[in-house]
Amino acid sequence: MMKKEELLKIINKLNIKFIRLQFTDILGKIKNLALPAKNLINNLDDGIVFDGSAIDGFARLKEKKMYLKPDYNTFKVLPWRSKRGDRVARLICDVYATEKQPFAGGPRNTLKKVRSRFEELGYTMFVGPEIEFFLFKNGNARAAETLSYDSNSYFDLETTSKGREVRKEIVLVLNQMGFKVKETHHEVAPGQHEISLQDQGVLAAADDIVTAKFVIKSVADQYGLQATFMPKPVYGKTGSGLHLQQSLFKNGKNVFWDERQSLNLSKIAKCYINGLLEHAVGFTAITNPTVNSYKRLVAGYEAPVSTTWSSGSRNSLLRVTTTAGENKKIELRNVDAIANPYLALASILQAGLDGIKKERETSLVKQLPQDLNTALEELKKDEVIQTVLGKYISDKFITAKKIESDVYQTQIHDWELKRYLDMF
Ligand code: GLU
Ligand code: MG
Ligand code: MG
Repeated sequence: MMKKEELLKIINKLNIKFIRLQFTDILGKIKNLALPAKNLINNLDDGIVFDGSAIDGFARLKEKKMYLKPDYNTFKVLPWRSKRGDRVARLICDVYATEKQPFAGGPRNTLKKVRSRFEELGYTMFVGPEIEFFLFKNGNARAAETLSYDSNSYFDLETTSKGREVRKEIVLVLNQMGFKVKETHHEVAPGQHEISLQDQGVLAAADDIVTAKFVIKSVADQYGLQATFMPKPVYGKTGSGLHLQQSLFKNGKNVFWDERQSLNLSKIAKCYINGLLEHAVGFTAITNPTVNSYKRLVAGYEAPVSTTWSSGSRNSLLRVTTTAGENKKIELRNVDAIANPYLALASILQAGLDGIKKERETSLVKQLPQDLNTALEELKKDEVIQTVLGKYISDKFITAKKIESDVYQTQIHDWELKRYLDMF
């Protein structure tokens, strides 16, 4: 735990001139308020006041004054913004409605609440995110020019590709910022990559996902490439997921592992798995929150379509690693990287905890929702997920996403024009 005095010392020593205060809104967008370091230092104790009404889904006009309380542990220098000796750093913040009261619409607050429910039982959840993304040539005015710059595939050694260079730079920057990158490789589709991060406590894991995405986009941009986490940018190619490797510790031991059981899976692990399987249909709207997300969740592309688990298949929703001991992990495979990681992890963990508490032994196999609208209807029906999100977030999320789904549904897409215009 970093103390205020330590933070101030570091800010001075590193000659930090600007600090970006970051937080994530309900829909998963990073918000950013840059302050000269001096201003920040004077306001650290009471939190930094900001206009909440400017943020989608946050305060209404009458309660627009809100507070940002930086989490000192998240202090990081942004290497690519710090080339001339005067450095820029960032702090991730919790959003408060008053000086003392966490805001009900702050996703980070929601995850903290779920984490404390695990802590009350003596559990610590660790999460290792595997972030997949595409790098495209920077387009012209077209918002998403899906022009790949390479023709490589899974684990290919990219001897000539610019992608390898960019990925290396991304990893270097992440390392410089104190991240531990577990692995990085070219993914199946041309221009598609993966970077997996070391397992962390659940809050740090969510913060890491936010930051890594921001780093990946910023570094790619410096090379004239566009990085995208859009789940299915190219028809007929694999999409990009955000697999989450999960393990549960108690008294320093991974309680998902039990060598006396089949697959070395403990009873707790099985209950956790069944909790996830039971609520997956309910939390899909949160973990796969756009109309595009559902174009990835189709058969034939190593993405799940139903609530199954296995020890090997890449088509299952959950995959149990075969590794033994402390490394026994459960991989959740439906999530995509445009999900709000705080809300996604809060929902997932609560689903697992529900399985553990109810000692759930089985769960029926169900089909995952096939479009956003269905997913929203399922979310409304799942009381456990509704409760963990709280009424404020759940209402805002469902309203915004329903509009998104309806607008999409009534658009006339290129495909329709090509298919029907001349034909009829
Ligand atoms: N890209 C695949 C997906 O959409 C996953 C491939 C893998 O197993 O890493 O989830
Ligand atoms: Mg992968
Ligand atoms: Mg994986």
